[in-house]
Amino acid sequence: MARKTTISIIKCDVGSLAGHHVVPKPLLDIGEKRLSEAKETGLINSYYVFNVGDDLQLLMVHDRGESNPEIHQLAWNTFQEAANKALQLKLYGAGQDLLKNAFSGTIRGLGPGVAEMEIEERKSDPIVVFAADKTSAGSFNLPLFRIFADPMNTAGLVIDPNMAGGFKFEVVDAQEGKKVVLKCPEEIYELVALIGTVERYIVSRIWRARDNLICVSGSVTKLSLIAGKYVGKDDPVMIVRAQHGLPAVGEILAPFMHSYLVAGWMRGSHWGPIMPVGLKDARCTLFDGPPRLVALGFQVSDGKIASDDEGNPLIADFFADPAFEPARREALKLAIMLRRMGEFEPARLSVESMEYTTLPQVIEKLKERFTPI
Ligand SMILES: [Mg+2]
Repeated sequence: MARKTTISIIKCDVGSLAGHHVVPKPLLDIGEKRLSEAKETGLINSYYVFNVGDDLQLLMVHDRGESNPEIHQLAWNTFQEAANKALQLKLYGAGQDLLKNAFSGTIRGLGPGVAEMEIEERKSDPIVVFAADKTSAGSFNLPLFRIFADPMNTAGLVIDPNMAGGFKFEVVDAQEGKKVVLKCPEEIYELVALIGTVERYIVSRIWRARDNLICVSGSVTKLSLIAGKYVGKDDPVMIVRAQHGLPAVGEILAPFMHSYLVAGWMRGSHWGPIMPVGLKDARCTLFDGPPRLVALGFQVSDGKIASDDEGNPLIADFFADPAFEPARREALKLAIMLRRMGEFEPARLSVESMEYTTLPQVIEKLKERFTPI
């Protein structure tokens, strides 16, 4: 049997430099220090610390399986220490995603976003990790549909007999707390009927249908549902496995040739265009955006991220490529158009989505002044 390896990406907004712009170096250093210690003790085998906008991202590769209490505790302690540092520096929103005080075995439901995937290592296992800022979990629905169900995007669905059986999508209903599995191509229309409602139905996992090989795991955190009020954006992360009977890396990146609209942006209350960027541009400015998306590639190798001779993980920063320049320009054009509409729908999210924001308080104040017509 092949070696089992787990990839965990856990992220949290622990505080940010000048509003919701970027995670400053002292906080990234805490992530680096904590994970390097965990590597020393053998808890994890490899790691990569980075940020997308105001979210501190801990990518870890280890042998402990999914939902491992020690791995989750490591992330929790790291975020706590970083949040304390943020508090000291009076950074904005210090500890804002740490919604609960006590850790009890899992970081799920406490605020941070989690995506984990245990794989049996193939001969070569290319992985793409996606991380977005100023948006929400359902924003991966559209590209996931295109990658795993649309033959106009993924040539392998047509050409590669290993993919002919299609893929199974697990969809979470974030409102009801339920999930359902739909098989494509047979249930392709039903899938779109569900996941087109991006604020409620979220693709959480995908398997290759013929052998149940896991190929996608995404975070489904809805912070507002944990806290009962608006406390921050859900800023999703996702792990996608590529090649050899799965979509090629290039097919996984192809949907991002164009921008598209996602829920989030300023105050988590607006539709905004997703902007694929390299790590150096993963910082939000204009109207706290536009929502940024990073895609990092690496190879899993004997329980680790394939590394150089000094042990530094080899990481591909896909969206740093000029090939995504047209998508970035498209995103800015859409941003300019949407902002011209100010607070008028559909630039602003629907009233149902605004339920957890401060908007209802404003409406409530006017209630007494309404008279019958
Ligand atoms: Mg964020």
